[in-house]
Parts: sequence; structure tokens; C-alpha cells
Amino acid sequence: MPPNAFDLIAIGGGTAGLITASGSAGLGASVGLIERHRMGGECLWNGCVPSKALIAAARAAHSIRSAERFGVTAGAPIVDMDRVREWVRGVQDTIAPNDSPERYRGLGVHVVEGEARLVDARTVEVNGTQLRARRIVLATGTRPAVPPIPGLADVNFLTNESVFDLNALPPRLLVIGGGPIGAELAQAFARLGSTVQVIEALPTFFAREDPDIAAVIHERLLAEGIAIHLGTKATAVRQDVTGITVSVTGADGVSRELVGDALLVAVGRTPNIERLGLDAVGVRTDRGGIVVDKTLQTTVPGIYAAGDIVSGAPKFTHAADYMSRTVIRNALFPGSSATDYSAIPWVTYTEPEVAHIGLTEAEARSRYGNTIGVWSRPFAHVDRAIADGDTHGLVKIITAANGRVIGGHIVGPHAGEMIGELTIAVKLKLTVGQLGGVIHPYPTTAEAIRQAAEQRVKAGFTGWKKALVRRLVRRV
Ligand SMILES: Cc1cc2nc3c(=O)[nH]c(=O)nc-3n(C[C@H](O)[C@H](O)[C@H](O)COP(=O)(O)OP(=O)(O)OC[C@H]3O[C@@H](n4cnc5c(N)ncnc54)[C@H](O)[C@@H]3O)c2cc1C
Repeated sequence: MPPNAFDLIAIGGGTAGLITASGSAGLGASVGLIERHRMGGECLWNGCVPSKALIAAARAAHSIRSAERFGVTAGAPIVDMDRVREWVRGVQDTIAPNDSPERYRGLGVHVVEGEARLVDARTVEVNGTQLRARRIVLATGTRPAVPPIPGLADVNFLTNESVFDLNALPPRLLVIGGGPIGAELAQAFARLGSTVQVIEALPTFFAREDPDIAAVIHERLLAEGIAIHLGTKATAVRQDVTGITVSVTGADGVSRELVGDALLVAVGRTPNIERLGLDAVGVRTDRGGIVVDKTLQTTVPGIYAAGDIVSGAPKFTHAADYMSRTVIRNALFPGSSATDYSAIPWVTYTEPEVAHIGLTEAEARSRYGNTIGVWSRPFAHVDRAIADGDTHGLVKIITAANGRVIGGHIVGPHAGEMIGELTIAVKLKLTVGQLGGVIHPYPTTAEAIRQAAEQRVKAGFTGWKKALVRRLVRRV
């Protein structure tokens, strides 16, 4: 007889459910994990992993195209989308065993394949069987949002659930949505050979980023031949033998038509909450997903939520991981620990990469006024970036009046690897002076962080300090 009573049941086998289940089982709890489709969730099958594998293939094509400036020629790249798709699948297959039911069973987790629904605050129904647990964790994630554009539902459009299955490159690709997912995929397809147009309703590109940072990636995408229509609304969609036509109204109020062979919709996410039986049990939801308190407990004691399904929480794999660890702590032990999203970084994997931690300059200014410090360094002054021929971008560090690092923003080569250093500074409340004193290996792009931090030291070295040092030097 399979067990039907547990300390904890996690619903959803994406990052949040997997970390909750394995972490809880590792601490000795009896754990059930229910997944309706494929363990690994959105990240492994439709998100981070296939997108980064596709981006790697696109980067290879771009490197071949741009090798000539180094004195190296290789001819025009030939892109075989069937083999690109094979590459992407191969990457997924390599990572998949980490998230497999077999591995989790080996970790002591009772894995059930099926769709779960809450019966009451302690009972879950799956495949017609009722399972009971002292604690239930909702980790059912999100799916692509589909905007109510007239005609869209009648068209064969792509989302992140289908775009990685393409076995032929669309000669003309239209993308509705210029956020991180839209931008990453727009650049990847442009580099593989598609002519790409992005339709973005907001008037600014990468509106969540610092404008100095956003401007660099915006210019780069334009330079790579991607058309970006800002402040432009898609008003209707239709499909015929010529392709897919999107009617748009631009920022100037003028309407026109854009035609593509394929249409990718990347306008945000819809929480998977409808079939969970939440209303009957009293779990409150809103448009963003499940409403939780600071401890990630829902409106029903004993039921928690983690990952993308949580309303208002950052939607990243590492955020899902962090939330799951908080849930484990709060669900299984006395007392509670509150979530703090202030030191969660994020990266957009365009080239150059865009990396973000903490407050932007504008956010810091509105919170602390003009007492803040802004210290930046363009990669054009960094020897490693010059040697690599990759000098687009900058590092920007934001500090409070006492020099404490409260934000860090990088657009440039290896930004995603470098943001860890600024995340440590924000998390551990380091000052920019401490950061400037860290010895970095030469030549690395991370030297840009030290050089930006040194701006603060130089800025403080004026007036009496300078006069005093001059005197001391003359005495020697
Ligand atoms: C194109 C794209 C690229 C991305 N790239 C990155 C990136 O580079 N870095 C990053 O940090 N994040 C990235 N993300 C975001 C990342 O994928 C998510 O933050 C992460 O997957 C959230 O994990 P989760 O466990 O909350 O939800 P999910 O991964 O969505 O998992 C939820 C699981 O619950 C299951 N489920 C739903 N309802 C039920 C039910 N009733 N019963 C049983 N099972 C159920 C689903 O089948 C699914 O497997 C990307 C997302 C997309 C779409």
C-alpha cells in the first residue's frame, strides 16, 4: 500500500516544488510531491534551460559572422534548425535526470504523477486518491499569458511552450512583448538568421532597468538589425497565405500592419491557480497568483506557497529556490522567518547581458534624495574588455550616504557572472570603499567593479585630505 499521510505535500514539480520536497525529505520529513506533467517545470522544459541553449547556438552564429574584425574569416554561418533543436533537447536531456521522479524517489520523496486538487486544509486529491499532510505547499507556477487581441486565438502563434520545438527558422519573426523573454529570444532568432520585429506597448525599453543600462542593450539590438516598435499596441492579428499580420497602433497614433512568418507572444505570465480548488478551501488569490504573508503562508494556516505562483514575488528560478528554503523553515519548524527580496539579483541573457541587484539610481533617489552616490565605469576603460573587442556597456554602483552599496547594475560582457560580487555587497551591507579595496585578477571584466568603486575614493579625496597628503609626501 502506498503511503497516504505525510508531514508535507508539495504540489508542482518545478523548481519550487522540487527544492521544497528534497530539502524537507533531507531533514527527515515524510514528503509527497505531485506533478501533473514533467518534473523540472517551466525552467527545464520551456524556460531557462532551452532559452540559454538556444542563445548559445545563436552566439556561435554571431561569433562566426563577427570574427573578421579579429582577422579570422570562416564564411557565412549555415544554421540547421533541426540540429539546433537537437542541441537544445540534448542540453535538457543532460540536466533532466537531476529532476527526475527516479532521483526524487531515491531521495525518499513519494512522487505521484497526476493533477492535484485541494479537498481541505490537510487533504489533497490526486488520481481519485486522497493524501493527507500536516503542511501543504502550493508550487504550481505559471503559464504564458495570452493577451485578448482580436484574432489572436485563431492564429497559430508561438509561446515559450512551443518556440523551442521549431525545426525551421521563420524568415520573418514578429514578437509581441519586449521584456526579458521577448528580448532574449528576439536576439537569438535574429542571430540565427530571422528578420525580427518586436512590438512593445511601453514607451521605454527595459523599463525596470536603469535608463543608462537599458540604453546600451536597446542600441545593441537595433545595431543587430532588430526593429523595436516602442509605445506600440497590437490591435488585431490575422493569418493567411502571406503569413501572420499584426495590426499595430504606434506611439504617434498611426496604425499600420506588420507581417511575419511566425508570431511569438511573450507578454507575461498567468498563474496556474484555476483547478486547485483554492476557493473552496479559502486560499485567497489575486491576479498575480496566491496571496501570502511574509512567511509565505497563505490565508489558510498550514498551506504555504512558493515560486512563480506567489503573487508579487520575483519570478526567477533562484527566487523560487530561496522561497522554498523559507517555506521549509517555516512549515517544519517552530517560529518563522520572513522573506526579504531586497538582495535577489536577476540577469537578462541578451548579449551584452543585463544584470541587476537592489535599487536603481531613480529608486534610490526617490527613497534617499540626493544623498546617494552613483559610481560608474564603462567597459571601454577595462583592459580585458578591450582585448576581447567587447567594450559596450558599463557598471553602475549606487550607494547610500554612508557609502553602503544599495544597488548594482551591469550591462556588458559577463555581467551575469559579475553581479554576484555586487549581490554580496548588497546582502552583507558592504561599503563601496570595501569593494574598491578588493584585489581582482588582471585582466578580467570584473575589474570594472573595482574601478567603479574607486571613483568614490577619488571623489572623497579633495580639499584638506589632498593638502594633508601633499604635506606628508613632501616630508619624506
Ligand atoms: C522563456 C523563459 C526563460 C526563463 N529564463 C530564466 C532564467 O534564465 N533564469 C531564471 O532565474 N528564471 C528564468 N525563467 C523563470 C523560471 O522558469 C521560473 O521562475 C521557474 O520555473 C519557477 O519555478 P516554479 O517551481 O515556481 O514553477 P514552474 O517551473 O512553472 O513549475 C510548476 C509545476 O507545477 C505543475 N503543476 C501545475 N498545476 C499542477 C497541479 N494542479 N497538480 C500537479 N502539478 C501541477 C506544472 O506542471 C509545473 O511542472 C524563465 C522563464 C521563461 C518562460
